[in-house]
Amino acid sequence: MSTLPNCPKCNSEYTYENGALLVCPECGHEWTPGEAAPEEGTRVWKDANGNVLQDGDTVTVIKDLKVKGASSPIKGGTKVKNIRLVEGDHDIDCRIEGFGAMQLKSEFVRKA
Ligand SMILES: [Zn+2]
Repeated sequence: MSTLPNCPKCNSEYTYENGALLVCPECGHEWTPGEAAPEEGTRVWKDANGNVLQDGDTVTVIKDLKVKGASSPIKGGTKVKNIRLVEGDHDIDCRIEGFGAMQLKSEFVRKA
C-alpha cells in the first residue's frame, strides 16, 4: 500500500489521488505528486493572488501604499518592473518612478 504525502498546504493526511493529481479534501488544494515540495528554508514569494513571484518580474501595486517621507502614496495600479525578492517583512526590492528605491510587501502586489 502506498502512502500518499500530506497536503503541502495544510499538512492534512487525508489526501487522495484523483487521476494524475493529488487532492486535499480539507483545504481543496490540488497538486501533482512528485512536484518537489519546497525545501526547508527555501522561501517562496507569492503575490496577493498566491502566484509565485520571481526576480525580474513586473508587478502591479493593488492598493495605495503610504510612503514614509513622501508627500503622496504609491497609487494602486502602479506597475513596478524588475523586482528583486529579499528576505524580510518588506520582501520586494524595487525602483518606482517618482519614488526611487523602495521596498514593498508581496501581499500588496499582483503579478502583471
Ligand atoms: Zn490541504
